Parts: sequence; C-alpha cells; structure tokens
Amino acid sequence: MRAYDIIAKKRDKKELNEDEIKFLINGYINNEIADYQMSAFLMAVYFNGMTSRECKIFTECMLYSGDVMDLSKIKGIKVDKHSTGGVGDKTTLIITPIVTACGVKVAKMSGRGLGHTGGTVDKLESIPGMNVSLPTEKFFDIVNSVGCCVVSQSGNLVPADKKIYALRDVTATVESMPLIASSIMSKKIASGADCILLDVKVGSGAFMKTKEDAVELSKIMVNIGEDFNRKVTAVITDMDSPLGNAIGNSLEVWEACEILKGKGPKDLKEVCLYLASNMLFMAGKGTIEECESVVRESVKNGSAMKKFEEMVRAQGGNLSSFEMDYSNGSKVRYEVISKTDGYIESMNTEGLGKAAMILGAGRERKEDKIDYEAGIILGKKTNDKISKGDVLAVFYSSDLKKCKEAEQIFDSSLKIGIHEPKKMPIIIAKVTSDGIQNF
Ligand code: URA
Repeated sequence: MRAYDIIAKKRDKKELNEDEIKFLINGYINNEIADYQMSAFLMAVYFNGMTSRECKIFTECMLYSGDVMDLSKIKGIKVDKHSTGGVGDKTTLIITPIVTACGVKVAKMSGRGLGHTGGTVDKLESIPGMNVSLPTEKFFDIVNSVGCCVVSQSGNLVPADKKIYALRDVTATVESMPLIASSIMSKKIASGADCILLDVKVGSGAFMKTKEDAVELSKIMVNIGEDFNRKVTAVITDMDSPLGNAIGNSLEVWEACEILKGKGPKDLKEVCLYLASNMLFMAGKGTIEECESVVRESVKNGSAMKKFEEMVRAQGGNLSSFEMDYSNGSKVRYEVISKTDGYIESMNTEGLGKAAMILGAGRERKEDKIDYEAGIILGKKTNDKISKGDVLAVFYSSDLKKCKEAEQIFDSSLKIGIHEPKKMPIIIAKVTSDGIQNF
C-alpha cells in the first residue's frame, strides 16, 4: 500500500476502505508518512468530504491511537459535554455542578484555549490552588465522592488527533466537517461517558458560520455516536456574540459563580439551563420539562453553587476571591467609551476574542503564559441601544499599551447602526437520532 495511491483515490472522490484509512493514520503517527502527504490527504478531504463509513473508520482509528478511559469504576450513568468552541464560553463551569447537584455524575476532561477561543482548563487554573492535572485514581475518587471533577485532557488521549489537528491548523484544513466531527467524537468516545451532549456553536465566533452547516456537522457527530453506542444530543447555540459579558479566565469564573448564585447575564443562563436539562434528560432523569424544573431549582436552592465549591475544594482550589465583591487584581482598568449614539447591530465575536488575547487572556502560541486576571467585561452587547459616553466595555490588563491596541480591534469588531436590529434566538436547534427540532 502507498500513501500516494490513497491520496489520489480521495482526490478522485472514491471511497476509501478500512485498510487504507488505517494505513494512513497509523503510518502518520509512526512517522512513516510525511507531513506533506498527510497535508495533501487532508486537503483532498476538505474538498471531497468523507462518506459516513469513512468517517466512522477514521474516528475509530483516531480513538484507538492512545488511551481509552474506562469509567466503570464510577458508579451510575456518566454524561459528558463538549462545546465546539467560542468566546466567553464558560458553560462547563456552570453546567457540571448543576447536573451533579441534580444527581448525575460528570467526569470531564477539558482542553486549553488556543487562538481566540478560551479553554476550560485555563479558566479553572485561574482559581487559586486549583489542580486540573490529577492522577486517574484521584479523578475517579472525586467523581465518586463529590459527583463531578474537571481535569485536563490526558496526554495520551487520542494522540493521532493531536498530531493531525496541529497539521490542520497550519494547512487551512480545520474547517472540514468530517475532520471536525471525527476529531471531536474520537476524544469524546475515548473519554468514556455513556451520554454526550454537544454544544455546537454557530456565528461569527464559531467554526460554523451558518445554521445549515451547524446542523450538518451535528448530524455527522450524532451518527458517529450511534456507531459507537453512545447517546448523543447536539444543541446548536448562537456564537454571533460572546456568551455572557465576561471574556477572560478569572472574569469568567466570577461570572460562572454569579449564574450559579441565580444572577448573571440572561443569555448565558438560558444556554446553561437548557444544556444542563438535556444532559439530565439523556441520563433518564425525567421528561425534558421535569429536568428543566429540577435544574432551575438547583440554582434557586443554592445546591448547584455548593456543588461547585465542593468540587473546587476537592481539587485543591479556593473560591473565596470570587465572592460577591470580587475585585479584579489587574494593574490597569480601562474603560472603552462610545463615541456615537445608536444600536449595536452586530459584533465580530472572533475580533473580541482577539482583543481579550491581546490584553493577556489567551495564548498565541502554546508556550505563551496567560495573565489570568486579564480580559473584558462587556457593558453593551448586540441589540443594545447606546449613547455617546456610555461604557461599552471595561478592559483589565497589566499594561496600558495593550489596552490601546485591544481597543482598536474592539472598535472594529462592533457594527453600530441607527436601527434596532431584530433579536435572534440564542438556542437555535436540537439534533438527535430522532431528527431536528428548530426553535
Ligand atoms: N474542536 C476539536 O476538538 N476539533 C476540531 O477539529 C475542531 C474543534
């Protein structure tokens, strides 16, 4: 078998068989197939796609390229969630304790942020003392005793994806549906949960820019889940604006606590409660309406917030600096003031993520250090009426120069007009093996 022939076959839109896909992936991880040949193959997939059979085999090869978690030591049904990535997305911090407070265990492995999107692990590490690199036994112990634990993805979980993703990142082949679907699903299946909730983001801050594409990607992932006997639900949610008002690690932890205390921004609350209800529903905890009611009650009676505190404590962290009067420790607090009257018609969410990155909240390269206190609190969002002199946002950083630079990107990311724009729903659709439900 030759890599050349496999590339040519994909280029010519022919379906690859199991041996060919295995040869390619295994050869690439073992350094027998060069980057340039894998790059050519990925570009052929980008243009010609994959059949569902190819996609299943591709996912399977990636899945078994490293460790596969056995969660059988954790009693009961385990549910996991995954977001396709966005700006201000702190849903894991909120949903995990809610779902656990409602009686379902969550053993979650999360990633770090790269580029304009933030990562859950970085957010958690902004909590003083928090340990997200626990040995597997300790991880299981915490899930069994507390009900939930969030750790950093193990180094040897789906190494094939790590290598292929890095190559996609530099060969303009990230935005391929079968490649995204197999990348996400191989990691989720390797993480071992029985049920998987996917939060598929759509909009200017997401990989998927249209609802049609988000539905298509969701269908592929739901199908892959079925192939591996996992219950999968994909909820398509808006990422045309950042989720909530906080962008940046410790700011997002603070905002997550606000939601768990029954406060915080409406959009974030709506998405989190809906996702949590669907996780309970998948775990067989009642009808969706019953699950919604239990979820709301867990926030109202404080049990969700208590669970978050318990999980953080079990992982060595201390939430006391995120109390009600949380004061950000950044050297510079910088207000961005509106120069005009009007309405915010739209926000380029990716641009806002980049502005936060410049302030120090993210990494451009893997080895970059994060400033956990840096970031943005939005004062206004899409659809809001604004007047000259209003505070559009507050920046936190260690350096005034970074604030000025970020302000330019921030300004160019906002489209301000004179007409009130039409309000768009935040929860757009739900895709399961039963079909699509539009909202
Ligand atoms: N997230 C992933 O894990 N993989 C992709 O390919 C895209 C988003």
